[in-house]
Parts: sequence; C-alpha cells; structure tokens
Amino acid sequence: MEVPAHVEQLLAALRAGGFVACPVGGCVRDSLLGRAPGDWDLCTSARPEQVKACAAPRWRALDTGIAHGTVTVLTGDGPVEVTTFRVEGGYSDHRRPDGVRFVADLEEDLARRDFTINAMALDEGGIVDPFGGRADLAAGFIRCVGEPARRFEEDALRILRALRFASCLDFSIEPATLAAARAAAPTLTRVSAERVFAELDKLLLGPGAGRVLAQCGDILAHAVPAIGPCLGFDLRSPRHELDLWGHIARAVGLAPPRRNVRWALLLHDLAKPDCFVLDGQGFGHAPGHAARGAVLAKEVLARLKAPGHLVQGVQPLVRWHDTPLPQDTPGVRRWLGRWGWPTLEDLIAVKRADLLAHADGPAIRRRLQETARFEKLARQAHRRGDCVRVDQLAVSGADLMNVGVCRAGPRMGRLLGAALNEVIEGRVENHPAALLAWARKQKR
Ligand code: ATP
Ligand code: MG
Repeated sequence: MEVPAHVEQLLAALRAGGFVACPVGGCVRDSLLGRAPGDWDLCTSARPEQVKACAAPRWRALDTGIAHGTVTVLTGDGPVEVTTFRVEGGYSDHRRPDGVRFVADLEEDLARRDFTINAMALDEGGIVDPFGGRADLAAGFIRCVGEPARRFEEDALRILRALRFASCLDFSIEPATLAAARAAAPTLTRVSAERVFAELDKLLLGPGAGRVLAQCGDILAHAVPAIGPCLGFDLRSPRHELDLWGHIARAVGLAPPRRNVRWALLLHDLAKPDCFVLDGQGFGHAPGHAARGAVLAKEVLARLKAPGHLVQGVQPLVRWHDTPLPQDTPGVRRWLGRWGWPTLEDLIAVKRADLLAHADGPAIRRRLQETARFEKLARQAHRRGDCVRVDQLAVSGADLMNVGVCRAGPRMGRLLGAALNEVIEGRVENHPAALLAWARKQKR
C-alpha cells in the first residue's frame, strides 16, 4: 500500500513519541480497492495534546474537533486529520454521540466505525481487520460492524451512508444490514437537511445509483418525502413497463454521472402523481407535470439546502424535459440563445435517459431520433459560434446610433431583436455591412 510521504512522516513522528498510529477508514478501503484515497485519516493512541506535541515544531496543528479527539495537522502536502482512539457514548438524538471516551486500543476504535469495509487500519505489522472488511470488499458487501439495528439506531446518518457506499462502490447491501436500514428508516427525519443532501448527492453520482434507488426508494422517501407518492405508482401506460419510481431510478442509472443531469432525473417526474388523469380508454396522462415538477424540484432542493447553482441548473432541465425539441437550425439557435450550450447538453442527456427508461416502442424511438438530430444541430451551431444572442450581433446599438439608423430607446431594442431574428433565420449575414444595410431598409 502506497502511503504518501507526508503521511509517513507524521506517522513516524507519532510513533517516535511512543504512540500507536495508523491510517484508518476510507483511505485503507480505497487503497485496497486500488483507488487513490481522497484523504488520509489517521487514528492514534495519543491524546490530542500529545498529537500536537508530536507534530510540533515541524507542523502546525488545528483543534478541529478537540472534544471528539480530532486534530488537523497541516503538513506541507496538505492537512491530515488525526483522531485519538475512542468509543462513543449514548446516541439520544439518533445522530450525535452524547460524548466520547478515549481508549488505548485500536480494535475498540475500529468497533465504533460504521461498516466493515470502513473499519480497517494499516498498522506497522500490516492490515488490522477484525470484522472481515477485506472479505466484504472482495465480495462487494456493505455490512455493519456489529448489530445493524443498534448501529442504525445510534446514528441514522449511517442508513444513508450505507446506500451511498453501495452506489459509489457499486456494492450490494448485505441482507441483514439492508433489513435493519429499512426498519430504521423512519428515524431519517432526524438527519439534518445538509447531511441528507451531501449523501444523496454522492449516491446519485455513483455507478450503482440506478440499482440503489430502485431497491431503496422506500428508505429514501423518509428523507425526501416527495418520493413517497411515486413508489409503486402505476402510470397505466403502454409506454411504461415499470412503476413511476422504477422509471425514475432507471432513468438516473442510464444517465451520465453529471450532477445537474442526475438530480434533474431524480426530480423530473415527481409531480406526476399530482397531475395524473385517465383518458377515455383508461390510459394515464400527467398534463402539466413538467411545469409543476420544476416548482416541486425547487422546493425539494430548497428543503435539502442545496446550493443555488444546482437549483438553477436543474430547474430548466425538469421544466423542459418533456417538450419536443426543435428540428431545424433556426429553432435550435433560439434554444441555444435562451439556455446556452452547457444547459442544452444536460437537457439532451436528461431527455435521452428519460426516453431509454420507457418501454421500447415506435414513439419512443422517434423521440430518440429527434433528440439525436437536435444534438447534432445544436453541437454544430455551438462549434461554429453561430450568433444566437443580441450581444453576439456584429453591430451594437451604439453602432446603429452612430450611423444615425436609430436612436436609443425601445425602438432600438426591437430593431436589434428583429436583426437577431434575421440572422438566426439565415436571411442576413452576421457582418456589420450586411446588418447596417438591412437596418437602413427598415421603416422608421
Ligand atoms: P469518503 O471520505 O470517501 O466519503 P470515508 O470512509 O473516509 O469515505 P468519512 O466520512 O471521511 O468517510 O469518515 C472516515 C471514517 O470514519 C469512515 O471510514 C468510518 O470508519 C468512520 N465514520 C464516518 N462516519 C461515521 C458514522 N456516521 N458512523 C460510524 N463511523 C463513521
Ligand atoms: Mg474520508
């Protein structure tokens, strides 16, 4: 296992002080999986003050979570968190331990960790793995350390962490752990919105997202109540072979792992149960679900305290996911002018995944072809740098004023808008001379 030099140096300083110190948790798991760990967390028998004494004078140390035994050592190559071996007291709020107690023994510390794959350390003698973490890594299992019901009872966040790791590592949740997560799911209401968001965000971007969503919708509905009405909802449509939640989960799983795209697909049809009607033949429809869905998406994301840029990025995708795409260059240019290429690229991905998550049929195939044609035209227009907005016109309002074609005011705005329309339609070239000649011909 390749431990980075700055981590080795800190380990050596702690060990020279007479303490046990080892990399632990995610970094050990990721290294065993052959992935580069995001960060290297250390655990140690040293108390926080002793950690600081070992780090000094070479490195500065911050009291990040001193009450819980965590010190952040600022090495030249980045911060490293060092946490004293500890066990946790009661969890009266199902979220945070009431207190922690420092212990001398590594194995006791490993026993408080959530999953077997996260409860391994790299000691001087090799991997310390008292709970079968390596076997579960090899088998692809998320399994609680100890009795699952108790572990979820202590900390409801672990329920979401189980789902998140299952998605991100593309593992399955061991049956007893899954059953306990399901039973404890009502306690998810006690997890803060920020934590729910952070876990769901990682879950959605994982390679196993579609599978985990399909399997665990009932669990997630306790964290995101708008999911509830979608579970088992029969769309009564020959275009759907799955229930509404099954369709949503499948669409998420089929989409590229881009944040806006996957969030939009999670949210795109949440308003369907509310908008649902049956036609004369008994087929289901949900008129207006995209517009309602865009409002609902904003509400769900606001409740999860999602960042504003995500709300901004996701809303148009939900709003337009069901609208037919233009099939001619001028129409495509108008969409490009209104939304910009990055949003259209996301919208194309949303459309495609949504369509592919339907039952195959001629209507779906036709819409996939339309999506492909739209993508081709939009990509071409974007690459060519076609003029799609007034500010891209080869003449400005100031130019038109200077040559006396038009004075400042509302008429100028209309004239520039009309000029853009001519350029978009391909009737006038986006060159100063052509645009001025066209403008001079317009009625005053
Ligand atoms: P990543 O950083 O890739 O998300 P990680 O496993 O490092 O994964 P962290 O949240 O950084 O996850 O936590 C570090 C370690 O602390 C975990 O590997 C696990 O051993 C332990 N841990 C974290 N959160 C909990 C929790 N809620 N309950 C029990 N142990 C936890
Ligand atoms: Mg980590």
